[in-house]
Amino acid sequence: KRADSQLLVIFGASGDLTGRKLLPALFELFIGDMLPEHFAILGAARTGYTDEEFRAEQRKHILEARGNKETNSAELDKFLRILFYLAFDSTNSAEYVKLKDRIHSLQQQENIPDRIIYYLATPPLMYELVPKYLQENGMNVAETEDGWRRVIVEKPFGTSLETAQELNKHLCRIFEEEEIYRIDHYLGKETVQNILVLRFSNGIFEPLWNRNYVDSVEISASETLGVENRGKYYDGAGALRDMVQNHLMQLMAFAAMESPAVFDPEPIRDEIVKVFRAIRPYTIREMNEWVVRGQYDGYREEKNVAPDSNTETYVGMKFFIDNWRWSGVPFYFFTGKKLPEKSSEIVIHFKSTPHQLFAGQCSGSSCNKLVIRIQPDESITLRFGLKMPGAGFTVKQVGMEFRYDSLSKTHLPDAYERLLLDAMLGDSTLYARSDALEASWRFIDPILHHWKEEGSKNLFFYEPGQNGPIERMMLGADSMGAPCESCG
Ligand code: NAP
Repeated sequence: KRADSQLLVIFGASGDLTGRKLLPALFELFIGDMLPEHFAILGAARTGYTDEEFRAEQRKHILEARGNKETNSAELDKFLRILFYLAFDSTNSAEYVKLKDRIHSLQQQENIPDRIIYYLATPPLMYELVPKYLQENGMNVAETEDGWRRVIVEKPFGTSLETAQELNKHLCRIFEEEEIYRIDHYLGKETVQNILVLRFSNGIFEPLWNRNYVDSVEISASETLGVENRGKYYDGAGALRDMVQNHLMQLMAFAAMESPAVFDPEPIRDEIVKVFRAIRPYTIREMNEWVVRGQYDGYREEKNVAPDSNTETYVGMKFFIDNWRWSGVPFYFFTGKKLPEKSSEIVIHFKSTPHQLFAGQCSGSSCNKLVIRIQPDESITLRFGLKMPGAGFTVKQVGMEFRYDSLSKTHLPDAYERLLLDAMLGDSTLYARSDALEASWRFIDPILHHWKEEGSKNLFFYEPGQNGPIERMMLGADSMGAPCESCG
């Protein structure tokens, strides 16, 4: 299905996200002939580019993002011709008249109806200001009956429950809830969407997917890099806000939710919010015992990081979902920087046999597991025991593996391709709804408050290249966030 003809306005178009992700994703959609019939992209930021300078800049970014892939330069030229730029100061309401005029002239020139997506690829400070000024200048509502407006908001969406609620309230005064697309790029990843298909299109997994057969669920996202040049942002955020509140919570919801009755955005999002609401809140004691925060040695010497910073670069946590399906099953999150490997995985550990018959039989919940690897090489692996060849009955753990690249040899779409296309089509399934976002903050917020009160108490340090602070062992998880060695 092709989306309606429309205009995409990107605020913050001179920035890193636009160059590295958004325009390369839009170019891939262009090559795949998936863009609307009449379509244009208007980049807006303060940097004084002309259309031609902006196109030249984006040409470089697109070629860089495509790496070794061969690029047809005639196609790239054609794509760049639908790219326009307006140098304007988004912090000044009076300047929006300029933007409005440019939008009108582009709509006429490119024969585009009154349908506009605003993409806020700006610093978070502007997520309130840009919509406010759009409203002040009458640009938040369509001017014609068949027109519409949509707004895509980048992460971070708030820094606490209170600020997330304020931002939600503010945006909902300016746009309708169904016009607001809160992005979580993890949901744009193919393997993440595949969790739903794996679970709900197969009869063999769902009967086992509950407290009777599942021993524990681990969800991890580890990085080898440190904060690099993002010290200023990261030191104010930390791993809990940067990774857990959004990405890991969403992954967990896909792994834990009930099947929706129909595969439509609202029923799916209803199920997500039900999972978040069923998470058991921590007591102070549980927070101390079940949430491990770590910081890598040397973090305080990083550029733009406070020399006495207590910001966590590692989080390991255990929690429970109090509902019929998951009662008593521990869920774990592990995420951190400067860990040995870059990887994101969901591991479903199944309960072991009640009795061990064979020599070498893998015991415990690490024997039978389903590993859904989200990155780097997307795959799904089922691990189980089989007989070693030769005499006797000795068990060896083996794996049945599906690698995503064997399904799609040509092009594995980047998360932003899928998400941009969905927003153009008006499909919000893979975007966070306000109630889910607030429910997720409601779980995370008390931990942040507790840490603030604790200061540096219970902040554990780890050497770069280790799997996190040793205190993570207290959580008692099977793999402790270490990626499955024989998977992927
Ligand atoms: P960036 O490189 O700093 O770009 C931000 C853009 O906003 C620039 O083009 C800048 O353009 C404009 N801008 C900066 N300060 C401004 C101000 N005070 N008032 C108005 N405009 C301002 O940031 P980014 O990495 O592209 O990230 C953009 C947003 O996406 C951020 O909120 C970030 O959290 C989120 N995000 C980024 C990534 C990523 O991979 N980069 C990933 C996930 C989420 P001018 O100076 O020309 O106006």
